Amino acid sequence: NASAKPPPEPSPLRKAKFFQANMRILVTGGAGFIGSHLVDRLMQNEKNEVVVVDNYFTGSKDNLKQWFGHPRFELIRHDVTETLLVEVDQIYHLACPASPIFYKYNPVKTIKTNVIGTLNMLGLAKRVGARILLTSTSEVYGDPLIHPQDESYWGNVNPIGVRSCYDEGKRVAETLMFDYHRQHGIEIRIARIFNTYGPRMNIDDGRVVSNFIAQAIRDEPLTVQLPGTQTRSFCYVSDMVDGLIRLMEGDNTGPINIGNPGEFTMLELAENVKELINPDVQIITVENTPDDPRQRKPDITKAKSLLGWEPTIKLSDGIPLMEDDFRSRLGISRKK
Ligand code: NAD
Ligand code: UDP
Ligand code: UDP
Repeated sequence: NASAKPPPEPSPLRKAKFFQANMRILVTGGAGFIGSHLVDRLMQNEKNEVVVVDNYFTGSKDNLKQWFGHPRFELIRHDVTETLLVEVDQIYHLACPASPIFYKYNPVKTIKTNVIGTLNMLGLAKRVGARILLTSTSEVYGDPLIHPQDESYWGNVNPIGVRSCYDEGKRVAETLMFDYHRQHGIEIRIARIFNTYGPRMNIDDGRVVSNFIAQAIRDEPLTVQLPGTQTRSFCYVSDMVDGLIRLMEGDNTGPINIGNPGEFTMLELAENVKELINPDVQIITVENTPDDPRQRKPDITKAKSLLGWEPTIKLSDGIPLMEDDFRSRLGISRKK
């Protein structure tokens, strides 16, 4: 239509906004371990504006201090179990303690975070039309009866155990994601994250890689929980962040396993840490906690074919990178 008026020029403000940031991204739990690395990666793209929401239960402002004062960055102290009003295009929903010590500390709060927190983020996604990614977990497979675990496996989870606030909480969170998707057409992405490690993990958060590395640096015995033959598969955090962004940007809802298929017994992990960090350190066995899964290894066929993703950093390369970070935070340098 030749007589139609050209569209009005964007106001100088909108123009500036448009060139500064095309995508406003909310990261819940962004002050935590994985969240803060994700924020670093998102901030590297100058078209992104990043809003972090965190209640600092297990995370720390320190993990984000490099972005304080940056015009494309905003940090809000907020608990996701409360209503949140922000305007965003994408939501990475990570808020939830991940270490068993912390998620068992106040199990009712863990359930609320997983269920009410995810419901609120879905309500937000619905109101503003945002795409939302949930960081679910390999714990949804419980103590798995098939090995390795692929996404079609429904899991073997104790509904009334001490880990249930976390595993069952994440299972409900996944259900909510799919119900909002089917009922309200929300664009969803679900990542099932397997054990992840790297710099900025809480030094005393009780997870196995952080425990062993801190123990080796402090010259304390490495505490292998019995029987020691239980297995896990450990993914370095930069690989994890890459997988999460690919999932968010791709066309698949998931659930998609994101993890490193390299599988180790806890005794093997202890031996590896000992060899790499402190050959003189002792390895001892200690009591385990209930419902500890006996084996865990991701089948990443889906991640490879649908996201073109696979991990690039093997454990023996990742441990020294984490050691550097732990040494500088503990103030203990390498022995000459
Ligand atoms: P983390 O504990 O370092 O980070 C979680 C963050 O969420 C923290 O900053 C914490 O303060 C915040 N948080 C907790 N409850 C909150 C609430 N109610 N409101 C607002 N913020 C809240 O853990 P992480 O290792 O970075 O894990 C991030 C996500 O990845 C979690 O959803 C976790 O379940 C999932 N995940 C992690 C692993 C792993 O090995 N690290 C494995 C599977 C799944
Ligand atoms: N919600 C939120 N931010 C929003 C929109 C909704 O935190 O911008 C919360 C809201 O408090 C509600 C939840 O998300 O408890 C689910 O919202 P939805 O609109 O799906 O359900 P309803 O409010 O109709 O129960
Ligand atoms: N574990 C261990 N020593 C420790 C801490 C944990 O042997 O000091 C074991 C634990 O029994 C489990 C495995 O390491 O079999 C992984 O535990 P973590 O808490 O890191 O993660 P998750 O159980 O959530 O996979």
